[in-house]
Amino acid sequence: MMNKLSLAALALLIFAFASQAQKHEKNLRTIFDEALTNGQSYPMLEYLSLNIGHRLSGSPSAAAAVEYTRQQMEQLGFDKVFLQEVMVPHWVRGQKEIGRIVNAKTFGTKDVNVIALGNSVGTGPNGLLAEVIEVQSLDELEKLGKKNIEGKIVFFNRPMDPKHIHTGHAYGGAGDQRVKGPSEAAKYGAVGAINRSLTLALNDVPHTGSLIYEEGIPQIPAVAISTIGADYLSKTLKANKGLKFYLETHCEMLPDVLSYNVIGELTGSELPNEYIVVSGHLDSWDVGDGSHDDGAGCVQAIEAVRIFKATGIRPKRTLRAVMFMNEENGLRGGKEYARVAKEKGEKHVAALESDSGGFTPRGFGINASQEAISRIQSWSSLLAPFDLRKIVKGYGGADINPMEDQGVVLIGLMPDSQRYFDYHHTADDTFDKVNKRELELGAAAMAALIYLIDQEGI
Ligand SMILES: [Zn+2]
Repeated sequence: MMNKLSLAALALLIFAFASQAQKHEKNLRTIFDEALTNGQSYPMLEYLSLNIGHRLSGSPSAAAAVEYTRQQMEQLGFDKVFLQEVMVPHWVRGQKEIGRIVNAKTFGTKDVNVIALGNSVGTGPNGLLAEVIEVQSLDELEKLGKKNIEGKIVFFNRPMDPKHIHTGHAYGGAGDQRVKGPSEAAKYGAVGAINRSLTLALNDVPHTGSLIYEEGIPQIPAVAISTIGADYLSKTLKANKGLKFYLETHCEMLPDVLSYNVIGELTGSELPNEYIVVSGHLDSWDVGDGSHDDGAGCVQAIEAVRIFKATGIRPKRTLRAVMFMNEENGLRGGKEYARVAKEKGEKHVAALESDSGGFTPRGFGINASQEAISRIQSWSSLLAPFDLRKIVKGYGGADINPMEDQGVVLIGLMPDSQRYFDYHHTADDTFDKVNKRELELGAAAMAALIYLIDQEGI
């Protein structure tokens, strides 16, 4: 009798499980169909990129982007749309930079393409002329010491390592030179810093990105040089030991400005006080139009929530599309969002960010307990039909990372990474570099994953 009962219970369980899986299969198909036949991510990105353009924190265009995404989510009929105040740094580039190699023997000059690093102080109109010393690492500075570095411009020239399959790892491996290099060099009396652009491409377009000055260390001007320029400078330096470099930058940090994270919600039907965040960052660098970094992530986040509304798939938990402000040169938006969530005791189940470009989605990188990772991996047969095959332990995203200590499952959309650093933080990061289908597939991938997290819990 007992056996018969437990067998019946088991059969019922299997039946329930199978029908649940069927329901998910059908809904995931509906999500992708909506994104690919009636997708709104591409026209939204077109507007953000071509009508508003680049939007560095504190700029008028950043304010316009706040207003545009707020209105957009309201027009799409989200249940609640609101702004979250945050004070952001206001760094301005000023006049175009000058980078000029001055030959020590002939006094001939050659201009090279440079771009000031974000947060850098400027040289001012008188510029800076000094000898150059090339290094490959921060460690090398200590070996060279003050006697070799003082009064010079340090040229950090370690390239990104092309052996990494995922280019994000190569970026991570070389980024210390840009972020910490200027202050490390200043400790030994350097007067300026030139960084090889963080890209695997060999071209003449320099890549900006932020530096962080260490407190109590003199702040020296810093620029990135294009990879062609870096190779040329390195070669010339070997042949012409005493060469000098003339640097002129007009950037400066102005007082903080009031800005906003933009948040749009679809209220959960069963657990409205549990939140699932889907996000990107609204600010960009002040060159190009920030289409891949990270206009793509913002419109994909809005689109992911819109898909639920359009298809009538009702979430149990509250879905929040969040456009974070100031990822690039301060991370104030991400920090403020986490602070407010903690203060209000909002229960965040998971947060997903798209901040690796609008390229073909391959899967997800997850920063969470092994248990949570295994749970997401258990849905791989549901995600595989959409070519989302990479479900691995990884990094969520810079803006959601401040929620790590609240036990939130942090997830990063992982698009194909091969071309991202061709455009990243450059004048080449423009709308024409984004493929419509790839962008839509990314948005659908995000909607699909938050759907499963919402339905199954985590
Ligand atoms: Zn970004």
